[in-house]
Amino acid sequence: MSAGSLVVVGLGPGQAGWLTPAASDALSRATDLVGYGPYLDRAPDQPGQRRHPSDNRVEVERAAMALDLAAKGRQVAVVSGGDPGVFAMAAAIFEALDEGDPAWRAIPIIVEPGITAMLAAAARLGAPLGGDFCALSLSDNLKPWDVIVARLTAVLMADFVISLYNPISKARPWQLREALLLAATIRAPETPIIFARNVGRPSEDITVVPLAAAPDAPADMSTLVMIGASTTRLIPRETGRPYVYTPRFYGAGR
Ligand code: SAH
Repeated sequence: MSAGSLVVVGLGPGQAGWLTPAASDALSRATDLVGYGPYLDRAPDQPGQRRHPSDNRVEVERAAMALDLAAKGRQVAVVSGGDPGVFAMAAAIFEALDEGDPAWRAIPIIVEPGITAMLAAAARLGAPLGGDFCALSLSDNLKPWDVIVARLTAVLMADFVISLYNPISKARPWQLREALLLAATIRAPETPIIFARNVGRPSEDITVVPLAAAPDAPADMSTLVMIGASTTRLIPRETGRPYVYTPRFYGAGR
């Protein structure tokens, strides 16, 4: 039996040019692709390659299945949108490895990075992540809501630019509004809030609104929400949305 391997591949946010050549090579070398169905659909068809689509939950089970295939000698690619290490499959693979069959530790595992949604959204706007920033997942499926509130309060107080992943879903309809109302108790009403939806896909839609209006702005599960810091600035333009940047020099624009 030939030796199997496992690569966790980040597909980037959507557009083909944002898939790295290394990720693309990893997909073409795989005998088996494992991942959420719509992500697998983004990998080019390859004769003989087996696909194992799943829904976007039960990540650790999917990870165990992928490790098992690799242990049986398959060349497995586990795919994630964006970067696989950012709120995605890479952590599930290592969690399954940590808890699963000790023989799995002999499998060579490679993580192939991708452009995460936050960086793609930032690039579209200018340079909102020019200063210190952080990322939070607003999903309380995997951690309690009070932990999210405590972390969000701490980073709002610390004046980071904050990227919110997983802001909303059918099962979690109220959390984003709560988070933005909390932000409004700590940051100024004119703080720029970015709603970046489907970045890099045909239906891309990016808007910038002041914090005071943000709790009523629409968002969905394909939206990355970014909360500006006190130093984040807008450069208005006659046409199109403003540029958004956060200066590296603390005194800039003041
Ligand atoms: N691993 C992914 C993130 C997975 S969590 C990455 O690195 O980008 C899923 C969340 O990511 C979504 O709810 C949304 O907040 C964000 N996201 C993923 N792709 C996106 C895109 N193309 N545009 C905007 N947000 C996106």
